[in-house]
Amino acid sequence: QDMQAVRDKLDSIHSELRNSRLFVATHMHAGDGNVHTNIPVNSNDYDMLHEADLVVERIMAVATTLGGVVSGEHGIGITKFQFLGESAINEFAEYKNNVDPNGRFNRGKLATGSGLENAYTPSLRLLQQEALILEASELGDLNNAIKDCLRCGKCKPVCATHIPAANLLYSPRNKILATGLIIEAFLYEEQTRRGLSIRHFDEMNDIADHCTVCHKCAAPCPVNIDFGDVSVRMRSILMAHGKKRTSLGTRASMAYLNATDPTTVKFLYTGLIRWGYATQRLGNKLLKKLNPFKLPSRPTHTYERVSVPVQLVHLTDKALPNKLPGKTMRAMLGLEDSKTVPILRDPSKFSDEMESVFYFPGCGSERLFSQISLATLAMLYENGAQTVLPPGYLCCGYPQTSGGDVAKGKKISTDNQVLFHRLANTLNYL
Ligand code: SF4
Ligand code: SF4
Repeated sequence: QDMQAVRDKLDSIHSELRNSRLFVATHMHAGDGNVHTNIPVNSNDYDMLHEADLVVERIMAVATTLGGVVSGEHGIGITKFQFLGESAINEFAEYKNNVDPNGRFNRGKLATGSGLENAYTPSLRLLQQEALILEASELGDLNNAIKDCLRCGKCKPVCATHIPAANLLYSPRNKILATGLIIEAFLYEEQTRRGLSIRHFDEMNDIADHCTVCHKCAAPCPVNIDFGDVSVRMRSILMAHGKKRTSLGTRASMAYLNATDPTTVKFLYTGLIRWGYATQRLGNKLLKKLNPFKLPSRPTHTYERVSVPVQLVHLTDKALPNKLPGKTMRAMLGLEDSKTVPILRDPSKFSDEMESVFYFPGCGSERLFSQISLATLAMLYENGAQTVLPPGYLCCGYPQTSGGDVAKGKKISTDNQVLFHRLANTLNYL
């Protein structure tokens, strides 16, 4: 009889037990007798955390019964406070009072009645709460996306935002460290019921904004972390909480990419692409000539939000292209009707064997740099292919998703898939 199902079940029980098995790793100092104990745990395993908490109590009890003290050359913090005993706490309070009578250093810390015993520390008891909060919130997914980072730094050289001359903060590795700190800060405030600080959202905006979502960091990463996806996740969390920071330029660009009505597209094309590009080019010329801000030739650090003059200089640093077609590709070819599927071919080359190509230009080459889609269509036309275009102005949804509006991006992409399937079915004779 085939016992495979039973064997599989036994294997899964065995692997579950093996993964949640606790062991205590000890490191000792040969000379002074210190013993450090480490209990590796999976922070998403509630039972394991609970058991580890009991093990800590046993370790402290064993250390004391063997004539040792709950101490060490470091690490007598909030976590160990509960194991110190009254006399040690009183002795410390007396000493602290002598050397720091005004309570300037760590006021209330390691003092009876401070209330800090419930504050966030990596203590196992608090990790239990943390595990529950993480499990039940979007922070858990964010944490899962970065938790395997080995800090190897292999992602640094490929990242466009890693500019050590400006600052050391924005390599993928350091952004992962920062993301971990932000998650920790949220958890701390959640557990201590102090209310969430707006500042953490600002910090999250800062980290999420320093990413071009190019996904280049995924390739060298040995544990497959793609910080582009992490940035999108953070932007989405910020958007869901109404805390996403969005500049005027981004809002205007997004409005342009979301527009499907030809009149709106025409209006925004004229304002943003024609006049906007012309203004940028004028700014480029004037600032290069007059240099009114007298900025140093080497970039300064960028720890704070960059000032308006610096933003202006960067915005106008390279002149935007001058010779764009005066209209979008669809406006030039009269293909703006959202109810008509355009098929372009050279009638003189028409035959039953004619190759058919479905071409989805996307907003970049259709609305921003329409010479690209015009050149593509011309090439296909010249080479005797017939080209099917989707009806009306469409976007693929990627700009919306990478900007944090994942729901909208997904909707656009699903609508496109449905439309393209319909087109494929209707035009399968081609
Ligand atoms: S390459 Fe991957 S594991 Fe290494 S630091 Fe970067 S994100 Fe972390
Ligand atoms: S996706 Fe973001 S973090 Fe990764 S390489 Fe690109 S800019 Fe850097």
